[in-house]
Amino acid sequence: MAETPYRELAELCERLSRLAGRKDKVAQLVRFLRKLDLEEVEPASLLLIGRTTPEGGVEKLEVSVATVFDLLRESSQLTLMDSAPPTILEVWRTLQSIASLRGAGSRERRLSLLRSLVHRMTDLEKRWFLKQLIGEMQHGVSEGLLLEAVSELANAPMEKVQRAFMLLGRLGELVRLAAAEGRSGIESVKLKLFRPLRPMLAEVCHDPRELLEKLGEPVALEYKFDGARVQIHIGGPVVRIFSRRLGEVTEGLPDVVQQVREFADGFREAVLDGEVVAVGGNGRPMPFQELLRRFRRIRSVEEELERVPLKLWIFDILYLDGRELLDELYAERRRLLEELIPPSYLTPMRVARSADEVEAFLRKALSEGHEGLMIKQLSSPYRPGRREKLWLKLKPAETLDLVIVAADWGHGRRTGWLSNYHLAAYDPEAGGFRVIGKTFKGLTDEEFEWMTKRLLELKLSDDGYTVRVKPEIVVEVAYNEIQRSPKYPSGYALRFARITRVRTDKRPEEADTIQRVKELYLKQFERKRLPGEDLIWKLRGGPLK
Ligand code: AMP
Repeated sequence: MAETPYRELAELCERLSRLAGRKDKVAQLVRFLRKLDLEEVEPASLLLIGRTTPEGGVEKLEVSVATVFDLLRESSQLTLMDSAPPTILEVWRTLQSIASLRGAGSRERRLSLLRSLVHRMTDLEKRWFLKQLIGEMQHGVSEGLLLEAVSELANAPMEKVQRAFMLLGRLGELVRLAAAEGRSGIESVKLKLFRPLRPMLAEVCHDPRELLEKLGEPVALEYKFDGARVQIHIGGPVVRIFSRRLGEVTEGLPDVVQQVREFADGFREAVLDGEVVAVGGNGRPMPFQELLRRFRRIRSVEEELERVPLKLWIFDILYLDGRELLDELYAERRRLLEELIPPSYLTPMRVARSADEVEAFLRKALSEGHEGLMIKQLSSPYRPGRREKLWLKLKPAETLDLVIVAADWGHGRRTGWLSNYHLAAYDPEAGGFRVIGKTFKGLTDEEFEWMTKRLLELKLSDDGYTVRVKPEIVVEVAYNEIQRSPKYPSGYALRFARITRVRTDKRPEEADTIQRVKELYLKQFERKRLPGEDLIWKLRGGPLK
């Protein structure tokens, strides 16, 4: 079969951007996916959600946005060459070649590869190609919508599709499976050792008292560590570690592998879920930024090992010696952990029946330097990827994870730095980002420098005052209040926003949504104060409002 031209994908994106209804969008997607050759399904699906590199990989495209604009400008002055138009596969393969380029001459090579594509594209193709490179499609195809399309394509219920997605971890692979094998393919997906699955996520808890009343049963409380999520796969002597984004991080964490080996002889095979935390000389957790240095690997692994020792904490088990444990309840999974994992690696846990007990444990966690608590339902299965109310996080300060979409040049002491960051929430409906505040607070000088460098790599435009950037950097932002405000088109504005950390572990689409901002805004009116909230602020030395 002849390869599908990229033009068809661009035309589909154009149509999708004009359609408002979810159902119509899904129908268009399904029709398109059905027509594709199997080999094309995965690349096309990823391109459709604005991805330019394979899932789970570590490669980055490293194409500055300025380069893309230059190319487009250059190509607009040329008449379309009379050669074959690019196909979907060709676009994908070229992007992969670009991502794998290294060393001397790679910039030129990258340019010429891009040129070879762009010069053969029509204006419509170019527009969507650029959107893809920038990562802002704005045609309303989120992961969720593509999952709905998969459900229809495979004629399988959404629940099964979700489950297969969490186990496979990769959306592109899932769509391919649906196209190739239909419902039976989707239903046959099983947890596989050494293939990372999407970790279970948590919602925010505003009021533990209300929660306990509503549940009418005790809950498990665990420390919420301020670290990085790790999924550990153990098969005999082999230990492999994956990040929250499903990338493999084993190589950078030899000390964590060592810690795993200390208890791994108690079983043959297992998949464990946990967190690694940087610890200081006094044994207390160090700030998250220190930990990120280990993941970013600015220095050699050996140097960082000495500078930032890591402590592993295990809080869940998903698989043990041939037994998938996802549908076992928390209480049973915890029982297994207690049998297998020595207490020094096991996340401290307490069963609580009252809000006072929650408060006491929260106080203990904070006094030991942790971020807060996780509240987990004792009767909950492990539901990777989905945010349900089965796990809840209780933190003293309200924070949102937002994406930097622009930054202003600094003045005075901050001259030469991009210092005032425009913070945006994700809008999955539109596939874009909506500004809800600005801040220059929270970063150290070193971080300002790092941030400036990174943002300039992502530059879309610079009017001498504000630099617009590709939405890629996610930051955790603390704030005191969300207000309704005409200042931003989103209609919301954060009061006293300050960056508390850079979340390189999150993709921009994993940032908090505008929907969530709206919910939080409304909750401000309903919400009673957390038990112990005033106390927490006393401990942390800051006011609530
Ligand atoms: P957040 O990233 O703010 O959505 O919070 C969820 C994250 O908290 C998880 O992805 C883990 O990395 C982290 N975490 C820390 N301690 C725990 C714990 N005891 N159980 C589950 N997740 C935890």
